[in-house]
Formats: sequence, structure tokens, C-alpha cells
Amino acid sequence: MYPDTNLFIDGAWGAGAGNKTLPVLNPATGDAIGQVAVASRADLDRALAAAEKGFAQWKKVPAYDRYKTLRKAADLIRSRADDIAKLMTMEQGKPVVEAKGETLLAGDIMDWFAEEARRTYGRIVPPRAEGVYQLVIKEPVGPVAAFTPWNFPINQAVRKVSAALAAGCSIILKGPEETPAACAALVKVYQDAGVPAGVVNLVYGVPAEISEYLIPHPIIRKITFTGSTAVGKHLAMLAGKHMKRITMELGGHAPAIVFEDADIDSAVKILGANKFRNAGQVCVAPTRFLVHETVYERFVDGMTKLASGLKVGDGLDKDSRMGPLANARRVEAMQGFVADAQAKGAKLRTGGKRIGNKGNFFEPTVMTDVPLGARIMNEEPFGPLAPIAPFRDFDAVVKEANRLPYGLAAYAYTRSAKTAAAVGAAVESGMVSINHHGLALPEVPFGGIKDSGYGSEGGLEAIESYLITKFVSQIGA
Ligand code: NAD
Repeated sequence: MYPDTNLFIDGAWGAGAGNKTLPVLNPATGDAIGQVAVASRADLDRALAAAEKGFAQWKKVPAYDRYKTLRKAADLIRSRADDIAKLMTMEQGKPVVEAKGETLLAGDIMDWFAEEARRTYGRIVPPRAEGVYQLVIKEPVGPVAAFTPWNFPINQAVRKVSAALAAGCSIILKGPEETPAACAALVKVYQDAGVPAGVVNLVYGVPAEISEYLIPHPIIRKITFTGSTAVGKHLAMLAGKHMKRITMELGGHAPAIVFEDADIDSAVKILGANKFRNAGQVCVAPTRFLVHETVYERFVDGMTKLASGLKVGDGLDKDSRMGPLANARRVEAMQGFVADAQAKGAKLRTGGKRIGNKGNFFEPTVMTDVPLGARIMNEEPFGPLAPIAPFRDFDAVVKEANRLPYGLAAYAYTRSAKTAAAVGAAVESGMVSINHHGLALPEVPFGGIKDSGYGSEGGLEAIESYLITKFVSQIGA
């Protein structure tokens, strides 16, 4: 059964002070399946006080003990993965096998940050005078405000919370109102693993009201956000005004380049799987398919066959390969992208329509002859749409790949080591994956450049952004 979700403040679960709630809808049916508590200003004040107290306590906990707590959380979430995955599917829509994979990966992310907690090394700089010790010390930045979205209810949150905890910070997490139960189950894991009261706090409510209160608040020392570029820019501006450190993981529009010497079957299989995973609601999803003209028709045929053969259905049905879109807004957005592209001359190879009139199902869609002026070629679709365009030479395709202000992920397929190296160097993107889909492991950097944001949510860079550098110079008395 799907539970109602409460706020978690200072170690206790409870309703918001105003007793307000928001309904949670199952995107496969449109039915209301539960409620999520709404935080009022009084709740935020309590969370801030808790985070301040929690930070004072947690920063003194030795790294070795923070490591042990996070390792315990990793084991706990793995042991609960089956139950959490079902909740996630009910509120978010993705097939349960994807939801379970996301939950298990959370265990790996916790393990990674647990280990990194013990490696937040400083250094000693050689002095200019005898007896002087120049110490570079890493300290936790302080209480963090984190804002996470609905497409990966656990993954987006676990990266932020685990990095903060590993570094010795406390955190107020504003979770996704549309998919609150899986995120709450994650927070319960930290609680059950022994993270002290006040160190992790979870709130839901009106996103703009919460961010506008928390970001300027003097207790908060760092902001981290995952979501759209438009909202990210707004929050970054607010953070800048109050001189708060930020990590921004924003939108993308990943070019997927298929060269004439690529293994086309493998490119179709891997790019297709990643295009339609989570119904395309993935910031690093391949988005503009740029295919060499000599292999273009073969690739288009392959993608069309793959897309039209995907079984779309309720994520709880084990045969479903693609679930519904997470909310009704996305269905409208898909209809808008398709209508705009068609009006500008695009051809639909498959898909293009909503499926049925219950739930947010949309057909996996392949389009060709999409002009560069079409919205889909410029705005993040965040859905199961694959526009494919031919190219003739390397310089032209790199120019197209770099045309947009986004720079999150890019993909290329080629059998030539020379082309692979050249494309890896030429594409302006925070992440480039060549001949496979190799992104988002806990131990590798994860983040964008240009309008896709800054900072990293993976690799050793991820914990750095929760640490400050203090310099101490001392000489014996
Ligand atoms: P949106 O832009 O309103 O919201 C995106 C996220 O930001 C949501 O989680 C929302 O709760 C949060 N948000 C919005 N305004 C906020 C504010 N003032 N303060 C704090 N948080 C705020 O739109 P949406 O309909 O939810 O999603 C649409 C677009 O967002 C998608 O098309 C996609 O481009 C982007 N998105 C990106 C990611 C990602 O992983 N990078 C995740 C979700 C959504």
C-alpha cells in the first residue's frame, strides 16, 4: 500500500504546522493514492534550528564513525529495495525494475561517500622559515539546503544527502512533492542507520516559498539543486546575492553522434534503451540523434523498430518496458513538441500521440526531417521523443553538437580511436560517453557546463563542494 508522507524534522516524523497536505497521483491511473504534508514557515524554522544543532553535533563525529553510519545505511537501503521500488513506481511511473535499480544504486552511492568521508585530506605546505607549520585543513561547509526533483526520487536526493553527511554537514532536503514516498523511505534509512536527530531533515511544500526562505537564511551555508535550467538560474541568482556556495545540476540536450564506421546495431540498442529509460525523463538522455548520412536510413529504421516494439504500460506490470510520464504536464509538453515539429515539416516515423485517456502514457516517438528551428531541437524535451538528423562531416556535426547553450552529456559511436579521441575533445559537455552508456556511477564525476550548471555530484569532486578550505599557519611558542 502507498503511505501518506510526513515531514521529518529534528528526528521526528509529523504533519506540517498548518496541517495542510497535497495529493499524490499515480501517473499510470491518474488516481490520488496518498497525501504529502506541506511545510509552513514555522516548520522551516524548526528545520533550520534542527540543522544548526545537528551540524554542531555531526561535524564533531569522527570521519571513521560517519563512514560506519553511512555504510550501515547502504546495507539497509539494499535490504529494503523491493518495497521502496514499488512505492517509487506507484508515484513516479517507471518500471519497477528501473525503480529497483535506482534504489540499489543508492546503496553504492552511500558506500562511495562513506569511503570518501575518510579521505577528505588536507595538506602541509613547506614553510619559508624553520619551525613553521602551514596546514591546509578541510572542514564541512555547514548546514545545506537541497532541492531535488521527481524524475529520480531517490537518486537525486541520495547524492546530495550522502555527500553532505560524509563531509560532516547537516542538511534540509526539500524533496519532490509529486513523488514523496520513495524519498521519505530514503530519509528513513539514514534515520534507522543512526544519523542523529537534526542532521537530516526532510520537508515538502511550495518549492518557491521554501527556496526563497531557506537560501537567504543565515543558518544555510550551501545550496544544491537539481532541476530545470530556468529554475536553477533563479536559485543561483538568489544564492549569489547572499554569497552562498552552490551546486547546480540542470537541464541538458545531449547530442548522440553516430559516425559512418560505428557498430550501428549496438548504437541503436544502447541509445534506444537510454532514450526511453524512465520515459525519457532523464537529464542525460540522448536527445538530438546526429547520424552520418551513409548510415542514416539504417539507424532510423533500427530506432523506429525499437521504439514501436517497446511495451508501454503500468510500471507495476512486469512486462512493461516504459511507464507513463510522471505528470500530466509532460504529456502536454510532448504534444506541443510534436505538433510544433510537424508544423515545421518533421516526419513522424513512429509514435507522436498520447496512449488512451487514463494515466500519462505517451508513445515512444521517432521523428526525422526536423528543422533546426523546431522547439525539440532547442529545448529539453524530457520525454520519449527522438529526433534524428543526418550529417556529412566531422566539423559540421561538432558545430551542431555545440550549438546549444546546454553542456551536460554527449554520446558518440565510432570504431575509430582517432575519431573517438577527436570527438571527446571537441564536444563542449561535462560528460562524454563513447560506444557505450558509461555515466552516473558513484565514483565518476557527474555534472554539466554552460547552461547545464556547475559542480559535480559524483567522484571525489562531489564531496569537495561540501567542504571549505581553512589555512592555519603556526609556529611553536
Ligand atoms: P519546473 O521547472 O517547475 O521544476 C523542476 C524542479 O524544480 C521541480 O523539482 C520543482 O519542484 C523545482 N522547483 C521549481 N521551482 C522552484 C523554486 N522556485 N525553488 C525550488 N525548487 C523549484 O518544472 P517541472 O514541470 O517539474 O519539470 C520541467 C522541466 O524541469 C523538465 O522539462 C526538465 O527540463 C527539468 N527537470 C530536470 C531534471 C534534472 O534531472 N536535471 C529533473 C526534473 C525536471
